[in-house]
Amino acid sequence: MAEAINWAFRGFCVGVPRQSDLDIFKRMISDVLPAYNCNTLVLLIRYQYQFKSHPDVADREPLSADQASEIADLCRQNNIRIIPKMNLLGHQSGKDRGSELGLLRVYPEFDETPDEPSVRYCRSLCPRHPNVKNVVFDLVDEIIDAFQADAIHVGLDEVFEIGKCPLCKVSSNAELFSEWVNALHSHIVGERKVEMLMWSDRLLDGNTTGYGEWEASKNDTWQMIDTIPKDIIMCDWHYGERESYPSIEIFSNNGFRFVICPWRELKATQAFMKFAYANKTDQLLGFLQTSWCNSGAVARYLCDGDNSVDEIPKQVGESFKWIMTF
Ligand SMILES: [Zn+2]
Repeated sequence: MAEAINWAFRGFCVGVPRQSDLDIFKRMISDVLPAYNCNTLVLLIRYQYQFKSHPDVADREPLSADQASEIADLCRQNNIRIIPKMNLLGHQSGKDRGSELGLLRVYPEFDETPDEPSVRYCRSLCPRHPNVKNVVFDLVDEIIDAFQADAIHVGLDEVFEIGKCPLCKVSSNAELFSEWVNALHSHIVGERKVEMLMWSDRLLDGNTTGYGEWEASKNDTWQMIDTIPKDIIMCDWHYGERESYPSIEIFSNNGFRFVICPWRELKATQAFMKFAYANKTDQLLGFLQTSWCNSGAVARYLCDGDNSVDEIPKQVGESFKWIMTF
């Protein structure tokens, strides 16, 4: 393998596998990731864990505490940092049905917009509901403990339903977002003493950057960029090929450490990585390859070169192989 740059953060972001894919998933951790010097696995838990504090929140095929512990141990044996990830504001509903995922299914009173038909798959929690922090922090604590993690990724991407309920609409979206990020930080970093990562799209102005309303914010949340702790690691995701990526300069100038996060189009991955490298500062820690597809299929492709998997896992596998050797 060609000599790759010695990035501090060489990450792969994948979902919780189906129970029937656990073995191949573990084989990917022990065989493939070390071979590519991947040193960080971000595992998208969402609500796929058998929570003890709020058992009904668990979604389909949840990992047991033993399974979480096995995955975490296997990562550590292979010098891979395991970072569990949750969605702690937006993304509280399913893509196809607009149906509520774990938390809102059990606690519908946390829904920021209970009366609005869900036009997207992005229902949000109300950050000012008087009981939401109690429940969210219980879940966060359990996940940190289950993986004995020294970091957690809190999601926070693509928040569209914000500032709508009676408790929230009295404040600006920037203020609401800042308040929630600071509350999470104070629990996760302040009390639990672990590192916090988040998707950084809500910190980018969708208009001036040209990034638009998904990979950046057109609902003013970006105005709070100066009001949150600088020790949060920003995960800067962009999935399309562009001539320039203004977020590289924005996060560097604002004093955040960050990683760049590509997805499945190899040309886009290459454009983003090369631009970031050409404009890098010490704050660029490395990269986090995302997948957004069946992690069992990704594992079958990377472990065995199984070409019968769908197109997206194949593309993700190729992007992974390219970026890990950059
Ligand atoms: Zn609210």
